[in-house]
Amino acid sequence: MNKDFLMELLGSNSVSGSETEIEKKIYDHMKPIADIVTVDEMGTVTAAVNPDAPFRVLMTGHADEIGLMVTAVTPDGFLKVTNIGGIYATTYPGHKVRISTKNGIVYGAVVNTRELCKKEDLKASDLTIDIGAVDKEDALKAVSLGDTVNFDTDVRELLNGRITARAMDDRVGAYIVMEALTIAKQKGVSIGVYAASTTGEETTGNGAYFTASRVRPNIAIAVDVTYTSDYAGIDAGLTGDISVGKGPVLCNNPSIHKKVNEKLLEAAEKLHMSVQIEAANGRTGTDGDIMHRTGLGVPFALVSIPLRYMHCPDEVGSLKDIQDCAELLAQFLCDCTENMNLKPF
Ligand SMILES: [Zn+2]
Repeated sequence: MNKDFLMELLGSNSVSGSETEIEKKIYDHMKPIADIVTVDEMGTVTAAVNPDAPFRVLMTGHADEIGLMVTAVTPDGFLKVTNIGGIYATTYPGHKVRISTKNGIVYGAVVNTRELCKKEDLKASDLTIDIGAVDKEDALKAVSLGDTVNFDTDVRELLNGRITARAMDDRVGAYIVMEALTIAKQKGVSIGVYAASTTGEETTGNGAYFTASRVRPNIAIAVDVTYTSDYAGIDAGLTGDISVGKGPVLCNNPSIHKKVNEKLLEAAEKLHMSVQIEAANGRTGTDGDIMHRTGLGVPFALVSIPLRYMHCPDEVGSLKDIQDCAELLAQFLCDCTENMNLKPF
């Protein structure tokens, strides 16, 4: 496992629409490894091995995270915000944040009051950020409207190879697709392999659309995170019987390609790796849905990392699940052949 690379990604600030910091790190890391590495106009980095091969598999892990965006500054210099993606506004009051500005990071504290704690249905528009400014003019010297905001958090290692960090969703996915390409290349993979750290998954889906439209893959694999049912207050009947530490999760739903899933299961068997299965009744809510509908249509599968407390500043996952997922995808890529028949009958 390339833990340093993973930790570097988890330490980045990458709110949807402001992914340049993390994408540059991925580009630099992959440059000496892949046959080619490109960046597109939206900032998505795509690494490829055997780019001229006729059969192509594209894996995506989204590099963006949820967060806030500065919308206004009050006369006394406090920032007002809106949400970027599906945040829980209740997780913000009383916490430190980082604002990504054109001149670098500006730190802030999210205002908390007893009244705010009692407020039902707290929204992003109820939040206020104190950056230490004395008035509006002072604040606007440091930040601009449209700057993005994320929690000022660390990555911490827990017991049993588990870690807690914000936005493992889905920086672990970006790590996994790059690591899977790296391992597949070492194993001598023969098909065309593309790994993309997509932008905008939490908001617009632009990264997946641009990348899949251009790569025109025969198969797409979205690598993301999924809810677990292994802690109090969660109904396994709703989320599936999924646990941290029990392996990567394959999804069954009406749009996910069964033959691709079968091939992934075969790869897991070869590796004697345990995988988990989740069932969903509609769209996956991931880059997979977008890639599926590009070009003439792209068969896809979703491989997920089990994650507790998704979209909170203390998401918890397992390093073993993350590395197993990369190994599983690398084996799958090596098992794919140019003449694979993906038709169901
Ligand atoms: Zn995600």
